[in-house]
Amino acid sequence: MTHAYSYACRDCEGMEACPASVIAETRDEVWKLMGHHARIAHGENPEDWDQETRDYLDTLIKEVDV
Ligand SMILES: [Zn+2]
Repeated sequence: MTHAYSYACRDCEGMEACPASVIAETRDEVWKLMGHHARIAHGENPEDWDQETRDYLDTLIKEVDV
């Protein structure tokens, strides 16, 4: 088993209908994939996320074993 981090977009308030989730070995990689997903699927620019948004998203990243 490998320790990993996951983020499910549907856990985010207002994104309940989004089926996307990402999983990666490091928290940093999850952040990059989240940003990539937000840009492609939701037309958001992750560079516009303020600290409050980042703190909230950070609480949604879960530690998992795969
Ligand atoms: Zn999404």
